[in-house]
Amino acid sequence: MTLFANVIVDISIEKLDRPFQYSIPDSLADRIHPGVQIEAPFGNRSIKGYVIEITDTPEIEIERIKPITGVLSGSVAMESQLIELAAWMRQQYGSTMNQALKTVLPVKKKTKPVERKWIDRIATEEESRKKLALFETKHATAKARLLRALIEEPHIEQSLITGKLNISTATIKSLEKDGLIEISSERTYRNPVANLKRQGKQIALNQNQQAVVDAIMADYEMQKYGTYLVKGVTGSGKTEVYMELIAKVLKKGKQAIVLIPEIALTYQTVMRFYNRFGDRVSIINSRLSDGERYDQYLRAKNHDVDIIIGPRSALFAPFDQLGLIIIDEEHETSYKSENAPRYHAREVAIKRAQMSGASVVLGSATPSLESYYRAKEGDFKLLELNQRVEEKPLPSCEIIDLREELHSGNRSILSRRLQALMEQRLERGQQTMLFLNRRGLSGFVSCRSCGTVIKCPHCDVSLSQHRGGKLMCHYCGYEIQQPKVCPECGSKYIMGFKAGTQKVEEMVQKRFPNARILRMDYDTTRTKDSYESILNAFGNHEADILIGTQMIVKGHDFANVTLVGILAADMSLNVADFHGPERTFDLITQAAGRAGRGDIPGQVVIQTYSPDHYAIETAKNQDYEHFYEMEIAYRRLMNYPPVRNMLVIQLTNENEEILNTEAENIKIYIDKMLVNHRKDCMAIGPADAGIAKINDIYRKVIYIKSEKEDLLVAIKDRLERKQAISNIQYDFNPVSGF
Ligand code: ADP
Ligand code: ZN
Ligand code: ZN
Repeated sequence: MTLFANVIVDISIEKLDRPFQYSIPDSLADRIHPGVQIEAPFGNRSIKGYVIEITDTPEIEIERIKPITGVLSGSVAMESQLIELAAWMRQQYGSTMNQALKTVLPVKKKTKPVERKWIDRIATEEESRKKLALFETKHATAKARLLRALIEEPHIEQSLITGKLNISTATIKSLEKDGLIEISSERTYRNPVANLKRQGKQIALNQNQQAVVDAIMADYEMQKYGTYLVKGVTGSGKTEVYMELIAKVLKKGKQAIVLIPEIALTYQTVMRFYNRFGDRVSIINSRLSDGERYDQYLRAKNHDVDIIIGPRSALFAPFDQLGLIIIDEEHETSYKSENAPRYHAREVAIKRAQMSGASVVLGSATPSLESYYRAKEGDFKLLELNQRVEEKPLPSCEIIDLREELHSGNRSILSRRLQALMEQRLERGQQTMLFLNRRGLSGFVSCRSCGTVIKCPHCDVSLSQHRGGKLMCHYCGYEIQQPKVCPECGSKYIMGFKAGTQKVEEMVQKRFPNARILRMDYDTTRTKDSYESILNAFGNHEADILIGTQMIVKGHDFANVTLVGILAADMSLNVADFHGPERTFDLITQAAGRAGRGDIPGQVVIQTYSPDHYAIETAKNQDYEHFYEMEIAYRRLMNYPPVRNMLVIQLTNENEEILNTEAENIKIYIDKMLVNHRKDCMAIGPADAGIAKINDIYRKVIYIKSEKEDLLVAIKDRLERKQAISNIQYDFNPVSGF
């Protein structure tokens, strides 16, 4: 059989849609695979190109397809590695090669490169502080904010100031006119003094931190590049550990990628890296234009920077001397892509590290079950930081049973205990954070009197509210009419739980009329950088209470916060998703971790309808080990990941009947494939997807669980080759409901 190679001549998304096809001569067959750079005839000349895909289907008449003339050997281009990675992702997660390449490669923009500009404070610190006081009395808040930042760090990239600090260029210009600052472009800027100063800010690691660094570097020195899981309680100094590792790797002429969830990529976090590494750092975020993104790509490729920090997509920075990949908050679900290929950054990072001889460091206070399981299995090396730095105690937590509150006549969202503690904080001039757990607010139904949640009898997940008063299971399709009274206790207070942050704000304001309140949720953060402004304002103690959703639990160190209230801790417990307990444990631990970061110990109040649930109890005791033991036993019992691998096959079609028939047929086809694998593989479904219809397109899912990942990949491969009318997408080991 003749094989053909699809080839692109240039690395850019535009070129992807029109690859050229060449035939593969037998003599070169074993050297050609995706990523390889080849030579081939083009018109009457010869061109160089990259193989992106190998296929047995000719696109044009075979006679017109010319053969590849040679394989370029020698140094392997960066692009080759990224294309090879894309090919692996395509195979592993299921997508077209085009989708995989588009995930990995930037859009090429022929625009003039955007110049990187820097702001330098030229006024002395004393002079600046005088000016700052003046700005503050005049309520020139933007100017004050900028000057305050520059007193801390005299050399900051302009985009960080306009972006993260939400300061206009007009404000910058006005400080320039006052002779306080100077603006310089990257070409003119070379300031060794600022670099020296930066070195001085380095924090000396404590013994525990040093031990983690030493363990990783000992392997590194022996060219043992592994995957490490740093399990460190909140405030244990993980970020300092990352920076020390980066410094060591950079010294060896290597480069580093740092993944941080976008929500945690705050000004404060970014500045810590700038303070240490200055202009060798580059930040990627989702708000960059295609042009800016392409600039970043070129900077990385040209070795203008050695460290790229950003969310999931930063993983594809074109570093050819990659030595280290760090994934902070590795348990975060945002590391999983929602679009095909539905890759997990953790897995792709490990693959990329293997390809380039780099180590991977995963960090979290609440590691994903997946990573901890793999650490226990010996795939990852586990390193722990069990104490907060400077022996600051972890906050003390207490649980308040909301059912009892109702029984004693308190219908407020705030328990009496929480109200009393908030009152205290207001008197003492300390700050409170109220966290409303809204994750997976997909409309589960519970009894406000006894806490019972209506669940599926077959799947152990809560049923979701649907139109027409129906409750449905998203895993197996089981459905019932919503009961009018609680099946357990007969109470009529049975309802879907919906309390918005706005409602909470109103109630808190009513209860504490003199308190200054800030609210952070989807509505208040829709405009550009309002997120940072709210955090900054709270950090400067412009408010006493901050109310928010998951957004408030990340990336900020508020020294004056001594009380954290978690309003409805079990919200995320009752989602139609087996990850409910894990998410709940994470959220409570992370939220609690915001308290007591300063000198005064913190206090945490966990309000819940299920005080006895193991996720809540273990979170209260901040006992990850115990939580893990309970949760992994449950996963084992139910054959859920990480004990088994899970492949979700999602079918979509605008015609419901065709979809149903096709889903049934595919299920039968899968069952046939699995005839000899009954013991180690099971297929479930088809069932309606979590959202059964979007925009008049119907969605069905089939689940396959197996210990053997390669078996699942093989099933996916065969299904991909089968003709289908419906659109089919694959998701391996989903991180949220489907
Ligand atoms: P984590 O990432 O584990 O939450 P951080 O790295 O953010 O912890 O550290 C928490 C705080 O402690 C930060 O303000 C940091 O500057 C400080 N810190 C970290 N390590 C040390 C150290 N060895 N000595 C003093 N302060 C430290
Ligand atoms: Zn009840
Ligand atoms: Zn069910």
